Amino acid sequence: RVLLEVKDLRAVVAESRQEILRGVNLTINEGEVHAIMGKNGSGKSTFSKVLVGHPDYEVTEGTVVFKGENLLELKPEERSHAGLFMSFQTPVEIPGVSNMDFLLMAANAKRKKHGQPELSPLEFFGYLSPKLQAVNMDSKFLNRNVNEGFSGGEKKRNEILQLAVLEAELAILDEIDSGLDVDALQDVAKAVNMLLTPHNSILMITHYQRLLDYIKPNYVHIMEDGNIIKTGDSSLAKLLEKEGYKGFSEQ
Ligand code: ADP
Ligand code: MG
Ligand code: MG
Repeated sequence: RVLLEVKDLRAVVAESRQEILRGVNLTINEGEVHAIMGKNGSGKSTFSKVLVGHPDYEVTEGTVVFKGENLLELKPEERSHAGLFMSFQTPVEIPGVSNMDFLLMAANAKRKKHGQPELSPLEFFGYLSPKLQAVNMDSKFLNRNVNEGFSGGEKKRNEILQLAVLEAELAILDEIDSGLDVDALQDVAKAVNMLLTPHNSILMITHYQRLLDYIKPNYVHIMEDGNIIKTGDSSLAKLLEKEGYKGFSEQ
């Protein structure tokens, strides 16, 4: 089943009208892992932000269908309730809000949207426990304020926990490998792999092929200048590492 279908997507920076995305095409089926690689400034983060409805950008052309629905008509929170999740390159800290309250709020907002009864904090804890284990996070992190004082690795793991709680069908992970040492990277990758089922999909954005040693993509796309210029399997990432991006843009 097709989960996401992006056709000829063009987007500009809302304020300056500068075009960043220039006709992106991408289809993601259920259960697939896709990676987008590309030089700094090629438009990877913009693409993911446009998918989640970031107000800095405006779509000028093209279509995005998510689970059969026109994604571009949905507000950002509706996209999230529909099953789209994005982890940010720099996760935000939320002083004064405990991680537990934040997760409970997010989970209940989604349940309400789908006509399910809200969970009590106690019920929620039962639901959360196995997910904490999956991401290898100590429950003491639940009482801390969201991301406040978390290390880089803890922030990333916390984002994967949010993803697990929301049970998103498509997770967009923008540079979850940035700033992580190998141990933290392996931890985060393990958590992501534990969450993968035949029904959800991942769109990973990364600069380095290293991440792809731990989370195996079915497809690798190379983005350049706001477009996907090449698609292949994981061998494309290896080739890219060897030859650099330059070789591709000249093709
Ligand atoms: P990547 O994630 O591949 O490094 P980005 O999507 O962050 O690339 O950026 C692509 C290009 O668009 C860059 O040249 C960047 O400066 C520009 N850009 C992205 N967002 C904005 C914005 N809000 N305002 C102005 N320029 C932007
Ligand atoms: Mg960048
Ligand atoms: Mg980026």
